[in-house]
Amino acid sequence: MRGRLVVVSGPSGAGKSTLIKEALAEVPELAYSVSATTRPPREGEVDGRDYFFLSRGEFERRISEGSFLEWAEYSGNLYGTPEHPVEESLESGHSVILEIELQGARKVHEKRPDAVMVFVRAPSIEETQRRLEGRATETPEALEQRMTTALTELRALEEFDVEVVNGDRGVSREKFIETLREIVRGGSDAERA
Ligand code: 5GP
Repeated sequence: MRGRLVVVSGPSGAGKSTLIKEALAEVPELAYSVSATTRPPREGEVDGRDYFFLSRGEFERRISEGSFLEWAEYSGNLYGTPEHPVEESLESGHSVILEIELQGARKVHEKRPDAVMVFVRAPSIEETQRRLEGRATETPEALEQRMTTALTELRALEEFDVEVVNGDRGVSREKFIETLREIVRGGSDAERA
């Protein structure tokens, strides 16, 4: 049986990456899709594990070759999902999780209408801002841009199948993991949740 494609999106600062890291440890059947980006690595990030860090020229070459399932420009950098590894995993029966921003999520939804769309958000705007500031890896301008984008992205909620409010850590984590388990099992309950 073919695996399911799971798209996790939502505003920057919602805590998607942490939730996904925890979920991958709990749901080993799930494969994580490593994206490509032109953004420089942050401290501690490893090429090939967190992202494939590419020059803009190399990224553009891969766009023209059609190597991406989707790609988007976000906060001045390009981000994209390499299609081949995703296809291989799905073919071999593994479900695949993509953590991508909204424009990319919409493209995947169009191309693969059977993808399960999961929206993760912080409990409030204030909390989103607090988390973005707490990260302290961006310049004030980049932070402001991310905050503006986060506000726009919040309006996209209705396009998604599942909403996870990442506030009360325990509850959101459990809901997220349970949703992924159902998807991996091939249940359709996740989509009705
Ligand atoms: P960051 O720079 O904080 O790692 O990521 C910025 C945003 O880009 C996040 O919302 C993240 O989910 C998104 N992103 C990461 N990889 C991809 C990708 O392959 N495609 C798209 N469209 N967005 C991505």
